[in-house]
Amino acid sequence: MWLWRSVVGKLWLTILLLVSVVLTVLTILLLQYFEHFHTEQAENQLLNQATLIASLLENDEVEDVAMSLINTNFSDTYATKAILIVDEEQYWFTEDGIKQDLPISIFFEDRDLSLVLEERETIVTQGSFPLSGDGEEELDDIMIVGVPVDSSIGDTASLFMYQSLEVVERASSQTKNIIFLSAGIAIVLTTIFAFFLTSRITSPLRRMRKASLEVAKGNFDMKVPILTNDEIGLLGIAFNRMAKALNTNLNALNQEKEQLSRILSSMADGVITLDREGGVMVTNPPATEFISAWLYEQGYEVEESGSLPKELAELFDLVVKEEKEQMGEVDVQGRSWAILMTPLYDQNHVRGAVAVLRDMTEERLHDKLRKDFIANVSHELRTPISMLQGYSEAIIDGIASTEEEKTELAQIIYEESLRMGRLVNELLDLARMEAGHIQLNVESVNISEFCSRVFRKFQGVAKEHSIELIDQISSIDEEIYIDEDRIEQVLTNLIDNAIRYTSIDGSVTLRVETFHKGVKIDIEDTGSGIPEEDLPFVFERFYKADKARTRGRAGTGLGLAIVKNIVEAHYGKVSAHSKLNEGTTFSVFLPYKNERI
Ligand code: ATP
Ligand code: MG
Repeated sequence: MWLWRSVVGKLWLTILLLVSVVLTVLTILLLQYFEHFHTEQAENQLLNQATLIASLLENDEVEDVAMSLINTNFSDTYATKAILIVDEEQYWFTEDGIKQDLPISIFFEDRDLSLVLEERETIVTQGSFPLSGDGEEELDDIMIVGVPVDSSIGDTASLFMYQSLEVVERASSQTKNIIFLSAGIAIVLTTIFAFFLTSRITSPLRRMRKASLEVAKGNFDMKVPILTNDEIGLLGIAFNRMAKALNTNLNALNQEKEQLSRILSSMADGVITLDREGGVMVTNPPATEFISAWLYEQGYEVEESGSLPKELAELFDLVVKEEKEQMGEVDVQGRSWAILMTPLYDQNHVRGAVAVLRDMTEERLHDKLRKDFIANVSHELRTPISMLQGYSEAIIDGIASTEEEKTELAQIIYEESLRMGRLVNELLDLARMEAGHIQLNVESVNISEFCSRVFRKFQGVAKEHSIELIDQISSIDEEIYIDEDRIEQVLTNLIDNAIRYTSIDGSVTLRVETFHKGVKIDIEDTGSGIPEEDLPFVFERFYKADKARTRGRAGTGLGLAIVKNIVEAHYGKVSAHSKLNEGTTFSVFLPYKNERI
């Protein structure tokens, strides 16, 4: 029943039930009381009248008055009839009143009534008596009083007065009606009041329910209006306070979450969170990259993500088993990752793990470069040193007999020591530059004249090797700010390389062009070229395409590294294009102003 399911219904029905029960009990009691009251009142009245008339009759002088009193019409008010009995022959009925008369024999036969006549007792009784009126006899409920009259009229003289109980019934039925009416009105009013009262209680409750649903949906701005000061009002205040606290807490939680996710996503290290079964729960971008690289390496589709790299799964098993953080290393797609996995606890149980992945490739590369560098330097120094040793030994041992031979040996020793000196100087230079200790003497320079001058320096060497030098320097008025000595070193290195790695009858072209922001210098040759796969490494220290290190024309492999450092110190760029056996072009771009563009 819907009514019973709502608070309004429950309260309403309860109140109604209560009021109805009370009213019913009250009505029954009242009815009983009133019925009794009416009867008693009627009896008393009748008795009083009868006694009064009887006492009047006792007085001979007022006999007539009494007789006329008997004859008085009582019916107006009480439909009362009186009868004065002397004996069976002598009696008087009231003339008017109800037309029904009691048969005279009744008074002598009825046990109660005869008491008056014979025992001279006053009686008050009720009963069903056969009344005869209009020739018909019918039973009627009447109330009757009998009073003995002590007078000279006769020994058994008695006065009876009777009245139909209808009168009493009519009176009590009237009261009954009034009581029923009041009860009905009371019930209706109670119903209405109860309804209003309960709806006053439930309407804020209903509003609160709506608000709770809104809050559950995440709408924390919802406020319950506080209309009353009672418990419901207090409940509303508490509710609003709760919603506010929830909002603050949730905001704090969200902020923390967002902060955490920001930290995670901007971290350089990869982070993977694993659940109890070792399934991937959260990854940040570097970790995602790691996993997708692993998947690619294993030949899996990217959709199959969620699977953990084998090495990580093994590490996870170890973490779960030992409940201790574990470290490992994985190589994926040429990058090496160091992994640190820590267990996550749910009170006392391991509920998963978090793995931090660090890309160690750079560190490994640096380690390798350092080792390579030392190996290269030692190698480069060992060659001239062993030569110095060999040739000086030859002189000491007197192998060179003639003065001419000795000079030749000394010449070689001299050249090798120069080469060693140059190597050491260049290394020192490079180390300084790479450490950032490069001091530029920037001055305004006319680039066309400057390039022509440097280019002319190589005329002799070029002729020696039968190489043609082609000058394509356009005259440029624009001033450029550079360190002349350093840029000369750059050009010298590049032109020297071009001539050195170009065979007889080749050509070397120097081209200078202006651009919006700077000058581009190309050194183009028709030499051996550089293998495509080596091109990215030509600017690295000790790189030499000619792995055989042919004596005589081999350099140290530091030239281009120095070039790159100097050009970058000028905020410029250097690049190389090459085709094997066709030629190489090195391009240097320098901004006009010595500043970053
Ligand atoms: P250094 O210049 O220190 O005397 P290097 O000339 O060998 O020695 P780099 O100038 O750094 O060293 O050049 C590195 C390597 O690049 C050279 O060994 C050579 O193999 C290759 N290379 C450079 N320039 C050219 C070029 N123009 N044509 C072909 N190969 C070149
Ligand atoms: Mg060189």
